[in-house]
Amino acid sequence: MTESSYCTGGPDRGDDHPSEECGVVAISTRDDDAARLAFFGLYALQHRGQEAAGIAVSDGRAVRLHKGQGLVNQVFQPGTLDPLVGSMAIGHTRYSTTGSNSERNVQPYLVETIHGPLGVAHNGNLVNADRLRTRLLERGAGLQSSSDSEVLALMLAAADGDSWEERLANVMPDWEGAYCLVVICGTKVLAARDPWGFRPLSMGKLPTGGNVVASETGALQTLGCVDIREVEPGEVVVLSGPIARGHRALPAKDKLARCTFEHIYFSRPDATWDGLLVHQARQNLGEELAREHPVEADVVIPVPDSSMPAAIGYSNVSGIPYNEGFVKNRYIGRTFIEPTDELRRQGVALKFNTLDSNIAGRRVVMVDDSIVRGTTSGSLVRLIREAGATEVHVRITCPPITNPCFFGVDMGTYEELISHQLGVPEICDHIGADSLGFLPVLSMMKALGRDDGYCNACFTGSYPIPIQLSLATEKKRFDGVLG
Ligand code: SF4
Repeated sequence: MTESSYCTGGPDRGDDHPSEECGVVAISTRDDDAARLAFFGLYALQHRGQEAAGIAVSDGRAVRLHKGQGLVNQVFQPGTLDPLVGSMAIGHTRYSTTGSNSERNVQPYLVETIHGPLGVAHNGNLVNADRLRTRLLERGAGLQSSSDSEVLALMLAAADGDSWEERLANVMPDWEGAYCLVVICGTKVLAARDPWGFRPLSMGKLPTGGNVVASETGALQTLGCVDIREVEPGEVVVLSGPIARGHRALPAKDKLARCTFEHIYFSRPDATWDGLLVHQARQNLGEELAREHPVEADVVIPVPDSSMPAAIGYSNVSGIPYNEGFVKNRYIGRTFIEPTDELRRQGVALKFNTLDSNIAGRRVVMVDDSIVRGTTSGSLVRLIREAGATEVHVRITCPPITNPCFFGVDMGTYEELISHQLGVPEICDHIGADSLGFLPVLSMMKALGRDDGYCNACFTGSYPIPIQLSLATEKKRFDGVLG
């Protein structure tokens, strides 16, 4: 399951949510415990990817790597971290979108370069990766994986410049798409964020000296960081011992494209991004949803866990009492044991039990954050009815998802997206609800208190970066929509 090297170094697909690609962390400390800190940083980012994890560490001379498939605490067992001695580390937890689910795609990548060892890990998706990969192959590069991250590593290794900062700044203009990148070399750690700002990336100071960059502020808080701030779009940060320097490698785009789904679903509720506490943002979405789609009912229940703040918000504005209606088995999606056919037929019953006394005889508002393929909402509605609800009204804290994401979020294809295939009344029939309401784009942005600066392409089809025709065509052809 794991790979260790020296010098050269099961995602939860059972529910109907978009899936995030990855989480990254980069650390420099005064001591030799950077790998252990990276482990706990990754542990706090586990929700962003459960397929694989890895840590590369440098002691100022050599870079060591340990990575493998599985959850963070499966890849790193007691004793695994002991050989990873050094004051600098990068870490990665992976959900695969681009690049298949294989051992070779597990990050970080470690390559030897004429400038010394180089480790790279990233979160996101380049929309021009195919063109960049072809260019590398034409120049004779040997690619070992299908992941964008290897393309980033090889381009960086071959870039012009007297330092890794310069080489990074020189290749970043070639990269189109979403990337939060962490880099380790013999003597320092670097982090970079794309100029559109698709994915979150923040940094903070360790209480013992040293600095951390991580995908979410919750990971920084876990490590006790203070002076937390966002890594700006287009910024490169260099960490070396207790020193942290940031500079703009690229100007931020005039129209930023933060991923709205970080607020809706991906990020931990304790994360702060774009100045918004995610828990509060979700509560605001629920409040706006209650104004947009009121209904007479007796109880508001969330689909746990990400919809809890939104259900509280819906309850606050509607005056309908909030209560819990589902108990979630948080670990069922983490098992590699296949259920029996009978258990498989029960579908979400494996994942959720109902609290019948909170539901029986009541008109229920069920608040959820999204409907992607429409594979679980119907089962949840059925569970609520079986628990004795007299009516079930489904309320969703985002607009219908009508388009795939090309920036590193696994939404499914056009054909798989139920809102690409069906209108709201048909989806309501399909899931067996008494009524169904989605939050419109304008109301969603009003709830976030933002007019622009966000990507909403999966709702609107208006992509912030022109998508390569071949990429979109390929996806449609795959769906059977074209050709
Ligand atoms: S298309 Fe949707 S999921 Fe993808 S980056 Fe944009 S808002 Fe996020």
